[in-house]
Parts: sequence; structure tokens; C-alpha cells
Amino acid sequence: MISNKKLRIAIASGKGGTGKTLVSTSLFYALQDQGVPVTLVDCDAEEPNDMIFFDGQLKKSVDVTLRMPVIDTDKCTYCGKCAEYCAYQSIFIVPQQKVIRVIEDLCHGCGACSVACKFDAITEKDVSLGKVNHYDITPTSNIVEARVRVGVYSSVPVISRAIKTAGLNHMVLMDSPPGTSCPFIEAVSYADFVVLITEPTPFGVSDLKQSVDTLRTMNKKCGVIINRAGLGDDKVYDYLKQEKIPLLMEIPFDREIASIYSKGKILAKEKVEIKEQLLAVLTSIIHQI
Ligand code: SF4
Ligand code: SF4
Repeated sequence: MISNKKLRIAIASGKGGTGKTLVSTSLFYALQDQGVPVTLVDCDAEEPNDMIFFDGQLKKSVDVTLRMPVIDTDKCTYCGKCAEYCAYQSIFIVPQQKVIRVIEDLCHGCGACSVACKFDAITEKDVSLGKVNHYDITPTSNIVEARVRVGVYSSVPVISRAIKTAGLNHMVLMDSPPGTSCPFIEAVSYADFVVLITEPTPFGVSDLKQSVDTLRTMNKKCGVIINRAGLGDDKVYDYLKQEKIPLLMEIPFDREIASIYSKGKILAKEKVEIKEQLLAVLTSIIHQI
């Protein structure tokens, strides 16, 4: 049943360290083990680490670049048209002082300023934002890794490229960036279903509420896996009941599980019962979509 599905499932959490990578790598392994064609996209572009858990061949590495404007101050008349056309306030201009600069961290590479300039004062250069790395893991499974260059303001274009190049000919899992800002929104915007990972603590509940609120504004279906179950109190369970959000699975607060993960091992490979529960979660997600 799972084998015929073409779905994108995002695995996300309101903050780092809740077990998002643990679940992503285990879901990927569980499908791989069943012979289901699957791609795992590591969208945590600032710190991609899914490949730590797998042996695989780097098949290709593609540069993600942005066309950034370059202003020739000898040709510029300081008319201000380019700044007027820029929707991202990325051009700083003080005509009286003959000062004009492109604020590269804000630039989206849309090209509007080049079109606006009637004095041929703007050319463009390619600026590297990061890479999308493709690894073959088995004949039917692969990992696509988004890796943003250090110092780049936004990882969104690199994440977007990674998800698009993964395609949708089969099951695609997306290990999403933590939080609820633009990188998270970019990753989950492609998802048919979002698995939120949380833990039963006051911080966990607070972050979960933010994630759920964001997903509701995007009209995205979601369910929750509680990691380190037994650690805290019942507030997260009360919240899920009150909001009618499906509890997909619990992973117990367990020294052995923590030890498996800290050694860079895949939980679903080490513990068959976890693998079976995750496959049941996938089946239930397919029913909900
Ligand atoms: S390319 Fe677009 S975002 Fe960048 S400076 Fe020009 S108009 Fe603004
Ligand atoms: S539109 Fe061209 S000429 Fe006018 S300020 Fe911008 S770069 Fe200079």
C-alpha cells in the first residue's frame, strides 16, 4: 500500500533537539527496508546532518546561485528608479551624496532593478548561496541535502531547490528546519502532511502551539509524535485532545534510545518495534490525506 504512494511528508518541530532527525532518519530507513522508493530531503540547510546516519555515494553536487545586481557608479545618474522598483528595500541610495549600494543580504535576485535602469548602469553577477548534494543510499533510496553557505542570510532558495530536485515520483520525506520562520514555511509549503515532533514539557507545548498555528494558516494537515514520552506532564496530551490533533506515536524517554542516537545509529534499525510503529504511522497518514 505504501509502495504506490507519491507523497511529500515533512517532519518538523518548533525548536531543535526534539528528535526531528531521529524520526526522519528512522522513517527513511523503515521505507528503505521495505523496498519502497524514497527520498529524504535534508532541509535543515544550516546544519544538515542526516547523512551522518547513512553510508552513501555523493552522486552530484549542484551550486545554488543568485543573480545579484552590480551598479556601475560611472554610468549611474542617481535617478533612484532601481530603488523604487525594488520590493525588498535592497538598494540604499542617497542621490545628494552620490551614494548607492546593493544590500546583498536583502536582495532576492528578482532582476527588477536591472529592468528599471534606463542608463545601462546595472549588470548582474552570480553569488553562491550554497549547494544541493545528492547521495545514493540504496538502488531505490537517496538523500538530497540542502547546505547553505556560511554567512548567507536566507537558506530559503537552497531549501527550495533541494525539494524541487527531489521530484515527486515516489515517497519524499523532508527533514524540515526547526522553528516557524521562513525556512520552515518554505519546506512545509510543499508537504501533503506534516509530522510535528514534540516533547511533553512546557517548552515543547509552547513550541508545538506555534507550529500548529502556523500550519493552520497554511491549511496544512498535521499529526504529532511525542518524543521522550514520560519525561514531563500531561499538558501536551490535553492540548492535542482539545485541538483534535492526531497523536501518531510516542517514543519513550529511554536511556537505550538516547544511547543509540548519540552513537549515530538509526533507531528504527536497532529497534524493530519502532520501525513497525513508524510504518503504521505512515499507513495512518496515507488514510488521513
Ligand atoms: S535584484 Fe530585485 S531584490 Fe535585488 S536589488 Fe534588484 S530589485 Fe532589489
Ligand atoms: S536606476 Fe540606474 S541610473 Fe538610476 S539610480 Fe539606479 S542604477 Fe543609477
